[in-house]
Formats: sequence, structure tokens, C-alpha cells
Amino acid sequence: NPLNGARFVLAAHEITQLPYDQGAEVAFAGRSNAGKSSALNALTGHNGLARTSKTPGRTQLMVVFDLPPLKVEGAAPVDARLVDLPGYGYAKVPEAMRQHWRGEIDAYLKMRRSLRGIVLIVDIRHELKDFDRTMLDFCAATELPCHVLLTKADKLSRGQASAALEALRKDFRANGVPGTAQVFSSTAKTGVEEARARVMELLAT
Ligand code: GDP
Repeated sequence: NPLNGARFVLAAHEITQLPYDQGAEVAFAGRSNAGKSSALNALTGHNGLARTSKTPGRTQLMVVFDLPPLKVEGAAPVDARLVDLPGYGYAKVPEAMRQHWRGEIDAYLKMRRSLRGIVLIVDIRHELKDFDRTMLDFCAATELPCHVLLTKADKLSRGQASAALEALRKDFRANGVPGTAQVFSSTAKTGVEEARARVMELLAT
């Protein structure tokens, strides 16, 4: 597992505190409680890497994890990172914090040169919410690749999960989203290998 080398580097309140903007980075986004921390833990194979089931309304941070440098043939190794973006979809997050994070995420997406792609975590049982739509619209507008993990698939039948995936892909085509999507479950470990491969692919673009 190439993501198993992930190590915590820092937690940032503001984008100015992030590591120097070079190398390659993939950011993980998702509404609170979508299952983002669980997905990060499953992908890296570290149970305590990202904290799960956080208290709503606590101070949220952008959390940065270093990966082993990417080896590119005939070139110097490239620094690689995963960034866990704060989810602010939860109703109980205070409005001031929500706005702060909306601004920081917006600036991060627009300015971060090392950003290679977004992994968006969506609960497979739910419709796309404003947070998700904003992320996908941004990816469409800037041609930033995104990959959606339709997670908690263990809560649905196989048929229902496939239908949800097909509906999302149709939505991507209709809205010009440069994205891919898959079914995922942190609990059942469904789609973990596929997601790892996609993250590595995004880092290498
Ligand atoms: P985050 O707020 O997006 O980081 O979400 P968490 O990873 O903390 O997960 C929120 C809740 O959903 C927790 O109670 C998790 O145990 C649960 N959860 C996360 N992933 C899955 C999954 O794949 N299947 C099921 N059944 N529950 C999950």
C-alpha cells in the first residue's frame, strides 16, 4: 500500500501555515460525518491517522500528511502530501467558523499550485448537498480532477449502490465535472484498492 507511509505533519488554521507549496498534493473534502476520517484511515491503513467522529463545532483544521516522495523516471523525487480539509456541512458548526473555512478552502483551491486533485467523500445514501456541489462546480470550472468516494456502501444493497454510482456519473456528464467516482466502504473495505490507485494517479499528474 503506497499510502501506508502517510505521516502527520501539521494542522493549519489558515492556508499561510501550510507547507511550502511545491511537489504534489491531493486534498480530501467532505461534509462533516460523511465518513472522511474513516476513509483516510482505511486508505492509509492507519487506524488513528485521522480522527473519526469529532465533536461538531470544535475548532477545525486543515491537516497535512506527508507521503514518501514520488519516484519519477529520469527526474528527482517529488514531495507528496495528503491534505484533510475541514468539512463544514454540519448544521451545528457556528456560522462564523463556517465562513472562515469557506474562505480558507476557497483560497486553498484557487491558489495551491501543488494541488493535483480532490477526493470528495459523499455518503452514498444522500443526495449531493451544497458543499459537494460547490466542490464539483469548482473542479468543473478549473478543470481540477476529482474523485468521489460514495462511501458507507455497506448500508445499501449492491443494486442500490450501483444505481447511486450511475446517477452520479450521469450528473458529472451533465455538469461537465472532470471527475471519476466509485463505490466505497471503510467498514467493509470495499473499493479501497481502487481508491488508493486513483489517489496515486492524481498525485502523479
Ligand atoms: P467525517 O466527519 O467525515 O470524518 O466522518 P467519520 O469518518 O468520523 O464517520 C462518521 C460516522 O460514520 C462514524 O460514526 C463512522 O463510524 C461512520 N462511518 C464512516 N465510514 C463508514 C462506512 O463505510 N460504513 C458505515 N456503516 N459507517 C461508516
